Amino acid sequence: MSEEFTNNKGIKFEPNVSKAVIDTAIDGIIVIDAGGRIQMINPSITNLFGYDEEELIGEKINMLMPNPDRERHDQYIKNYRETGERKIIGIGREVVAQKKDGTTFPILLAISEANFGGQKYFAGILHDLSELKEIRKELKQSEMRMLHLSENLPVGAVYRIEDQLYLNRKIQQIIGYSDEEINSLQAWFKALMGTHWEEYYEMYLQDRLRNFDQVRTYRVNTKSGGIRWVDFAGYRDGKGEVWILHDVTQKVNIESELITLNEQLEKRVKEKTLALKENVIALEEANKKLVKREEELEQSLSMERELNELKSRFVSTASHEFRTPLSSILSSVELIEMYSKEEQEEKRNKHINRIRKSVKTLTDILNDFLSLGKIEEGKVTPTIAEVNFNESIESLKEEIQHLGTSDQKVIFRLNKVDIRMLTDKKILHTILTNLLGNALKYSEEDVYCEVVKGDDHTAIKIIDRGIGIPKKDQKHLFSKFFRAENAEAIEGTGLGLSIVKKYIDILNGEISFESKEGEGTKFKLTIPDSHEENSHY
Ligand code: ADP
Repeated sequence: MSEEFTNNKGIKFEPNVSKAVIDTAIDGIIVIDAGGRIQMINPSITNLFGYDEEELIGEKINMLMPNPDRERHDQYIKNYRETGERKIIGIGREVVAQKKDGTTFPILLAISEANFGGQKYFAGILHDLSELKEIRKELKQSEMRMLHLSENLPVGAVYRIEDQLYLNRKIQQIIGYSDEEINSLQAWFKALMGTHWEEYYEMYLQDRLRNFDQVRTYRVNTKSGGIRWVDFAGYRDGKGEVWILHDVTQKVNIESELITLNEQLEKRVKEKTLALKENVIALEEANKKLVKREEELEQSLSMERELNELKSRFVSTASHEFRTPLSSILSSVELIEMYSKEEQEEKRNKHINRIRKSVKTLTDILNDFLSLGKIEEGKVTPTIAEVNFNESIESLKEEIQHLGTSDQKVIFRLNKVDIRMLTDKKILHTILTNLLGNALKYSEEDVYCEVVKGDDHTAIKIIDRGIGIPKKDQKHLFSKFFRAENAEAIEGTGLGLSIVKKYIDILNGEISFESKEGEGTKFKLTIPDSHEENSHY
């Protein structure tokens, strides 16, 4: 008959249930007293240790331990009782147990302490670890097999189990260190990566997190102080990993040699290019000089040609223009000789006047040549002063009267009674004589000269109803010696207008014309009042 128990929640249960649980537990259970004597065991204990129950009850617990624990166990309990310092109680630990036949086996031992009826008892639960140990051993063996395999690999291999490193022969050859010298992760990085090893270590840890998804090339310092380059590839497996290390020093060296060679080549090419460039520049310089010389030569040649042309044009114009007045002078002189009588004075005077007129024509032509020469040499400087235009008209009329026919007149139209200009009087005079002279010479009717004085300039128009200027000749009108086609029968040198143009420029003025062949010509001038005393051309 079994007694009934009530638990703290008021539920009744059979006390034999506890016993049944203890009896059938896989783990061994032992209860000892304060003196270390076995008080109770469950059947698992007899199975584990090979003793019968009778052989154990009342015996000392240390009979189940191998040395040194066996001898020291009494001391252990004593220590605990005196100091209360727990080494195993309530903690649980892996220890070694000994069977009846003397063989030992690993157990996980958990001890609890209990007081009952004023007595201290200790209860131990033992879990057999033999099988687990066996598995671990097998694992270790497979690791070792793996190491052994990698030992003879033709590439460097490092096997890492937790912090422990195992180096194969090849990697030891590469780095010159033995696996005793480098047996931990830190030792590896410290020995091989130089002063910055911590950065490489950090990088390795990062790579490890990413399951070594890329191959890295490391520069490693060998034990003998040399340098090697290795390609590093890692493979993870649980707590361990394998590194495969390829010595690529030769490849890297060849590459860097190639780079150096390439750089040298590039440098030489650059130097050569530079030298070439300098040569090209020098050549270009020389060429430029040559071209310039050529141009100068060409220029002086064309100047010479132009001069020659001018000379010949001058000679032909001069001989043509000089012939008429000279022959007229000659014939007049001959006639004067014939009119030697006193009553022939009138006839003599007529010829003397003809001579005078011819000489004047010759002088005019020569003056034209001279003034053009002077202007072209830049020797003409205007003398600015107030010019009374009304006074100028008189001398102009006198100057040009012989150029037209006796019934031709110049009709002046002025917008003011008294026009005063600030310009060079002589130059203005030459310009107007030329233009008015032409207007008379190339027409048979009266000529108009309109003068409009503005605030700071004078606008002058010279209008005739003469032969006009053919369209095709108009663009050449201001060139030296140029004469229009329809003017050939009329005396002239082709110098007047080119002189006018140059003088207008000296006065900072403008000149233009409109003309129609057979209808007439209109020249327009604008001459500014110059406020500079002496403006230089
Ligand atoms: P020149 O009168 O001595 O020939 P210019 O240089 O004064 O030389 O004139 C150049 C040419 O311009 C003249 O030969 C003539 O063909 C043309 N020309 C100038 N003025 C007039 C004008 N008022 N009417 C028609 N033709 C003119």
